Parts: sequence; structure tokens; C-alpha cells
Amino acid sequence: MTLTFLGAAGEVTGSCYLVETGAVRFLLECGMRQGGARADALNRRFAFEPRDIAFVLLSHAHIDHSGLLPRLMAQGFGGPVYATRATCELLGVMLPDSGYLQEKEAEREGGEPLYTAEQDQRSLDRLLAVDYDEELRPHPSVRCRWRDAGHILGSAILEVRIGGTKLVFSGDLGQPGHPVVEDPTPIADADVLLVESTYGNRNHKSMTQTLDEFAFALNDTLASRKGNVVIPAFAVGRTQDILSIMGELQRAGRLPAINAYVDSPMATAATQITLRHATLPAVERVRFTESVEDSMAINAVKAGAVIISASGMCEGGRIKHHLRHNISRPECAIVFAGFQAAGTLGRRIVDGAEIVRMFGEDTPVRARVFTIGGLSAHADRDALLGWLGKFRRAPRQTWVVHGEPLAAHALRDGIRKQLGWRAEVPAEGQSAALA
Ligand SMILES: [Zn+2]
Repeated sequence: MTLTFLGAAGEVTGSCYLVETGAVRFLLECGMRQGGARADALNRRFAFEPRDIAFVLLSHAHIDHSGLLPRLMAQGFGGPVYATRATCELLGVMLPDSGYLQEKEAEREGGEPLYTAEQDQRSLDRLLAVDYDEELRPHPSVRCRWRDAGHILGSAILEVRIGGTKLVFSGDLGQPGHPVVEDPTPIADADVLLVESTYGNRNHKSMTQTLDEFAFALNDTLASRKGNVVIPAFAVGRTQDILSIMGELQRAGRLPAINAYVDSPMATAATQITLRHATLPAVERVRFTESVEDSMAINAVKAGAVIISASGMCEGGRIKHHLRHNISRPECAIVFAGFQAAGTLGRRIVDGAEIVRMFGEDTPVRARVFTIGGLSAHADRDALLGWLGKFRRAPRQTWVVHGEPLAAHALRDGIRKQLGWRAEVPAEGQSAALA
């Protein structure tokens, strides 16, 4: 029985783990890699035969965990995909959008799209919803359960029993006390554990400090400097978090009613889905734009607007247009509230690039750039070690995944030192015995 690390090993995108037993082969996750030409090339070929995969188990809807499902199906995978109910609802808007973006990109840059919106639509038929904590038997020798991971709506930790071995995959773990979602569920035990390490080497600022910084960035930019605030945000998760804290700050009298735009049809759909599963504080004067004309009309607004748009790492979507119109204006601010992966435009801006290339033009960065760390949907180092500390016995083996090398190695060292467990960072393509 083996486990092979096919993605999110030494990096944060492209989550995909292959489990093979004598009786069945299945995947945990089928995520897309993001950031650059290497990612695109890797997205195009699977390291296994898709036809041989019996089923896929998904932790949550983010594209770096689910985004290659349409391609997997186009290449012969014929089985079901299991995920929580909210994850299935979110994928219903995210996968078609991803296919549309792939088609657009292929049109612009030439070549074949990774997959099409039509292929996305077909992959949605394979989704089967499960409830949190319910036991599922996708195969006579496999039993699994989804536990709330508190990362985004519908996100889960996967507990998978294969014969006598219990494999636990943390998925993306949320930060306790985060808006909109519950805290991550403590897990009692595992034989083999996969734990994410996005922030394995860092702690977030406190929520109090985060709210102070966020309120300052908005109030100072809008009232004193008379500019706009542009917030690149994942349509799913981060956009609803931002709306939630804006609502909280308004209720506390710390933020006036301001013109806010949510300019991403997917973010609008995701907000509607969120409202079916959770409550969000109301935000005054927020507009959800739908049409391209509505989106373009925002370009004429030179001051006093908060523009929340996707994609979260500025790699595509309407956010690039809003950056183009605001990033070179010193009175404006760009507020980053989520992780920016290496190789993305968002990362270059966060790292202090003075000039960035957008739409084929060198564009100077003159707007102020704020990074609001405490809003991350990922657990920080202390929260990761805290969640691990609740296990009642040491797993036989812990694999530290889903982190850039510095972060993954730092968490591995922390696990060894503080918990005394056996922990390793797997290399991409590495296989390990499960039993
Ligand atoms: Zn995620």
C-alpha cells in the first residue's frame, strides 16, 4: 500500500496525492498548479493513468485542490468525486469559471486550453455530496469522513481508513477565531498524517491588530488621501471574510458607509452560497457588479471606492484591470489579505516590485501596498502546532506538505522538537509505504 506525493510537495499549489493498494487506486485532491510556465506544463500531464483511478476525495473547493478535475475526466477518469455539500455547491460556480479562464488564456496566448467550460460542466455531474462527520465507503476496503477544517466554507480534514491503517490529511487548516467559518476540528489519532505548512514558519498578527491595520488602510486612503482601495481576493472565502470584517467595523463605528464593489461574478455567487450556510454581518453600500459594462464603469471612479475583485493572486480575472487603473496612483492603496504564491503577480507586488508587467506594458507601482497577514484563511505556525498537539498519540509518520521549502522545513523541525514525532517533507514524486 503506497502513497505518492504528486503535488503540493515543497510548494503550495497543485495538491494531489495518489493512494494505491492491492485492491484500489484513488486520489486525495486533484489540484491545479498556479504560477508560471512550469506550472502550466505540469498541469498538462498526469503522472498516472486517469482511467485507473477509482474515485477522488476532495478537501475543499479551492482550484489549487480541485482545478484539474475536468482534465482528469477528459483524459479518461470515470469515477465519482466526493466532497462536502458546500464544496460541491462552490465547485458549481468555480469550475465553469476556471474553464472559461483557460479558454480565454488559450485564445490570448495561443495553444490548447487546459480544459474548456463545457468539460467543466460535465465534471460537475460526477460530484457526490457528503455531510461532515458522516462515514462514506467509496470502496469496500476504504472508509472516510470529512471533518470541518475551518479554512473556507465546506473545507474539510479527511480521515481515511484503508484496512487497518488510518490516514489523515489536514487539507488546508483554518486559523482559529476566523470570521465566517468554525475552528478546525481536533483529530484524535492517525497512523499516517499529511499536514499543510503554508505558514509553517510564521505567526499571523492578532485579529485585533489586523482589524486596526485594515481600518487604517481604508480610512486613511479613502478619507485623507482621496484614493481608491483595491483588494485582490479569492472569490471564495476571502471575499466573504473581507465583507464580514467590513460589516463588523461598520457596526463598531470604525468604518463609515463607503462605496464598496464586489467585482467578480464568482465572488457574488460564492457569497450567495455562503449566505445559505452561514450568516454574514451586513455591509452598507456594497454593490455586486455583474456585467462587463458595470465592471468597466468602476474604472471611472477615481476616489472613495473599495474594489474587491479576483483572482486573489492577481494572475487573471477583473482584478488586473482594477490594478491597471489604480496601481500607479500614489493616493491609492492595494490591500493584500491572502497568501501570494511564488511566481504570481501578487507576490511581485507584495515583494516590493517598482515596476510590474501587465497587459504587455511595464507599469510603475506607486500606490501604497498593505499586507494584512492576520486575515489569512490558513492556520499560522502556532495554530498548526496547536492542532497537532491535540492528537492523543504520535502518528507513525507525519508528512509536511503544502508549503514552500522554508515553511515546510520549519514546521517539520517544530514537530520534531516540540512533539517528538517522526516528520519529513516529501519530495515531489516521492512514494511512501502506507502500511
Ligand atoms: Zn485552500
